[in-house]
Amino acid sequence: MNKINWNFNNTYYNLPSAFRENVKPTPVKKPKLVLFNKDLSSDLNLDFSKVSDKELSELFSGNSLPEGSNSIAQAYAGHQFGHFTMLGDGRAVLIGEHLSKDNKRYDIQFKGSGKTAFSRNGDGRAALGPMLREYIISEAMNGLKIPTTRSLAVVKTGENVIRESYLPGAILTRIASSHIRVGTFQYIAARQKNNELEILLNYVIDRHYPDIKNSKNKATELLTIVMKKQINLVVNWMRVGFIHGVMNTDNMSISGETIDYGPCAFMDEYDPKTVFSSIDQTGRYAYCNQPIITKWNLSRFAECLIPLIDENQDKAIKIATKIVDTFEKVYEDKWLDMMRDKLGLIGVDDKDKLLILDLLTWMHQKKADYTNTFCHLMNIKIKKDKSYEDQDFQNWKKRWNERLKINSNSPEKYFKLMKTVNPLVIPRNHKVEEALKAAEKMDLKPLTHLLKILKEPYTEQNDIFDYQTPSLLDRKYQTFCGT
Ligand code: AMP
Ligand code: MG
Repeated sequence: MNKINWNFNNTYYNLPSAFRENVKPTPVKKPKLVLFNKDLSSDLNLDFSKVSDKELSELFSGNSLPEGSNSIAQAYAGHQFGHFTMLGDGRAVLIGEHLSKDNKRYDIQFKGSGKTAFSRNGDGRAALGPMLREYIISEAMNGLKIPTTRSLAVVKTGENVIRESYLPGAILTRIASSHIRVGTFQYIAARQKNNELEILLNYVIDRHYPDIKNSKNKATELLTIVMKKQINLVVNWMRVGFIHGVMNTDNMSISGETIDYGPCAFMDEYDPKTVFSSIDQTGRYAYCNQPIITKWNLSRFAECLIPLIDENQDKAIKIATKIVDTFEKVYEDKWLDMMRDKLGLIGVDDKDKLLILDLLTWMHQKKADYTNTFCHLMNIKIKKDKSYEDQDFQNWKKRWNERLKINSNSPEKYFKLMKTVNPLVIPRNHKVEEALKAAEKMDLKPLTHLLKILKEPYTEQNDIFDYQTPSLLDRKYQTFCGT
């Protein structure tokens, strides 16, 4: 399969053996390609045009591994809903790192590829529905210009997996700038071998943050930079109403990409306490808690780095705490800027925060749709909604209009700004479900159409009314862990 242009250069494989298990995907019975992301493959400088569907099925099921790959399961740990556990790739293998044309490095991972040393009691497999769901949402996130892992392909395995019932098994090919997580650091830190921790630190800096390579204290610099990346990520989630659902430390990437699409979903009606995941009983990962949890996760990351920050533990803790304690201020500034952009507010005014909070309070009280409220403010045609005739909203709009006049900004200018950050369409829960239901019966039309629309969420498109309208049935929408 030389024609594909694989350019493997596997560096994680060369790290100490404690970091991974060398393991191959378990072959599957009857692989069949379901989805393939042609655009992404060209971005990766891969050419599958001379490869038959049968060969693609063999490849993306792991039945035939490409030359140059070295498949491994990565070790990691994690705080799951606050409890520390040793984990690792229990149903995934990293087949290698591919270098694209610009020498950018990408992990190629199969998810659902069989048991590994880290499978615990699991079967190492994944069901078709959740893998297609990850494909849809991750590609939607990419369309929304939010850092994310990508999805290259989904194959059905031709085998069933046993969950509450028998479900068709599937494997997702996931592309990431790396799969190194906060939990990876936790795993190595728990082994209490500082040389291993240092190897991981240097590896991560080399791979993701080479600019800090020569800094005096690499560990503190890494903490600072990862904090910035994760704040940027969570601010983006807040911008579009995305709720990750399982922000365990093993699901927080060091590169700042959204990773592990399980019970995630997008909020319709604005309610800061929104939770979709059936297992998140206490709302630990609710919409409004996402920044707080990001800080909590970063504190766990900081703890791992303590031995590398300073030999004197007390001093190291003080340094790390000082950095993590800047979280609120950095987050608030970034969030305010993001909300200003959503409202087309150019420059800074003392009353901006109040104006923004008053709109959010109104949306919450009136159960207004988060995405569509901003569409309404941009004069984008959406389904008629009487709540926007409300007097309180009209009064708020007057204040907003006054504020827009500051700096004598023209409507062209502020609408242009708003249109870069306010999506006209998000993956509405009913549309995602509809696409998955049809795909179960191997009707992929609704899914591919949905993907097409979600590719350009900031562009006005014809006939997408249905995709912009929340379903009343989604008020009680629940998601389940994608196992
Ligand atoms: P996730 O909920 O996908 O983030 O997974 C959390 C942990 O459970 C990771 O270590 C996974 O590899 C592992 N895991 C999830 N599902 C399975 C499965 N079916 N078989 C083995 N391990 C699994
Ligand atoms: Mg995970």
